[in-house]
Amino acid sequence: MLEVRDLSAAYGGPDVLSSVTLEVKAGETVAVLGANTAGKTTLLRSISGLVPKARGTIVFEGAALLGRAAHTIPGLGIGHVPEGRHVFPRMTTLDNLMMGAFGHRSARDIPERVERVFALFPRLKERQSQMAGSMSGGEQQMVSIGRALMGQPKLLLLDEPSHGLAPIVVDELHAAIGEINRQGVSVLLVEQNAMLALSVAHRGYVLEAGHVVLSGTAQALSDDPGVRRAYLGV
Ligand code: ATP
Repeated sequence: MLEVRDLSAAYGGPDVLSSVTLEVKAGETVAVLGANTAGKTTLLRSISGLVPKARGTIVFEGAALLGRAAHTIPGLGIGHVPEGRHVFPRMTTLDNLMMGAFGHRSARDIPERVERVFALFPRLKERQSQMAGSMSGGEQQMVSIGRALMGQPKLLLLDEPSHGLAPIVVDELHAAIGEINRQGVSVLLVEQNAMLALSVAHRGYVLEAGHVVLSGTAQALSDDPGVRRAYLGV
């Protein structure tokens, strides 16, 4: 579904991604693990057309992505949940969700899409009239994921969804990511929380200083002594 080949990226200085090659098959959840500054966010931003100096090849369902304007990428079926959530703080939960369907305004099934998000995150239904900026961090993460789902993506890019959240909320999000994938959406999940990522992913890649240094099934990565030492703290 998604093929990234020899992707390098920079912001004007040295490359922060070097010859990264990875793929996501239809139906998969793929995790990218890595410490701070490994380049995880840059990888997702490159896929979404937000890194002008990205070089290499990114193909999604046969369409080459590099060089396309960022605003055209969601229309191809890619939803992006950015690091830090970026909800619209002075808009209600419901209006935030509606923004995710902005490019689909003539679609007839918008109410059903909202109901599907509410089924996944019942708390958002209860708080649909609340300003998103006054929601808890976990609730804002749900809004951000729900907003991306309103565009009916085939592939969801998730950037550190567990960052800064209490363990109980992380468990809830973890369950939701599994459910989203079971509903047929492929997921590319970037996480510092390797435990969480490997527990929901089918496969994974380890990114270090802009290079893919290891890849394998989630089980193989969980069993790898280097991964266990560096990322699982065992
Ligand atoms: P984190 O988990 O801390 O978000 P990350 O693995 O997602 O880290 P990136 O955010 O992709 O890493 O950053 C990779 C490198 O690129 C870092 O050295 C960072 O300082 C640099 N970088 C990221 N964004 C920019 C930018 N807009 N301008 C210049 N340098 C940037």
